Amino acid sequence: MKKRFLPALFSALCLILLGTACQSVPYSGRSQFLLTSVDYENEQGLAAWQETLKTEKLSSNTTAVNALNRVGPRIAEASGQKDFQWEFKVIESEQANAFCLPGGKVALYTGILPYMDNDAEMAVVIGHEVSHAIARHGGERMSQGVLQNAGAAVVSVLTSGSAYQELAVSAYGVTTNLAGILPYSRLHESEADKIGMILMAKAGYDPNYAITFWKKFGGNSGGFLEAFTSTHPLGEDRIRAMRENLPEALKIYNVSKVRYGAGNKLR
Ligand SMILES: [Zn+2]
Repeated sequence: MKKRFLPALFSALCLILLGTACQSVPYSGRSQFLLTSVDYENEQGLAAWQETLKTEKLSSNTTAVNALNRVGPRIAEASGQKDFQWEFKVIESEQANAFCLPGGKVALYTGILPYMDNDAEMAVVIGHEVSHAIARHGGERMSQGVLQNAGAAVVSVLTSGSAYQELAVSAYGVTTNLAGILPYSRLHESEADKIGMILMAKAGYDPNYAITFWKKFGGNSGGFLEAFTSTHPLGEDRIRAMRENLPEALKIYNVSKVRYGAGNKLR
């Protein structure tokens, strides 16, 4: 399928399924195409979370656990997503990684702690991950995957009467492991960076720390950072975009009811 045909296809599908499958992303306002329901995404998130808790070791690093218990709920509150059943765990692992599953289950791996000097830098990572979840990037990727696989056939199916049901069934049948559908696209990354900075600012953390964190994190590429960097591309472009987002985030931070600045030190 020609790439430039995709936007037109998406617009056409959005018109066909208006009100059921299209909505706009909070904060960014971008309209997205979703075949998955919130309930389905959250069920998948919960299943993946239960699996994570079964297989991973929780950390006994009280500094990190206490910090996550301060920062996590503040970011959750700032997200305005009240329907999520929020939970925050620090996982013992060399991986420099973190995630937030659909439904609000958040994990921070101990391998990323060396890059965080304070609560604000933890808020950068949690804000970014929570943004992927509230923007429903996982559901969007599942939906896009279905469309890509089905190709042009989808269009004919969609446009023939009661076919939406059939398509929805195939979307629901996607058995993609949630770990495999963790957001990776540039669009999702830059959107999560931007929303994340807004969330941390709303939560009372100075958004300047988004830049200090990514500078440290981006300066290292290799070894145990591989896992995170493969899903989170780094580089000057990313930092430049963050600098562009900074004035908007600072405006929010400057009128925030509470301002923690850098927050507690972590080392
Ligand atoms: Zn990301």
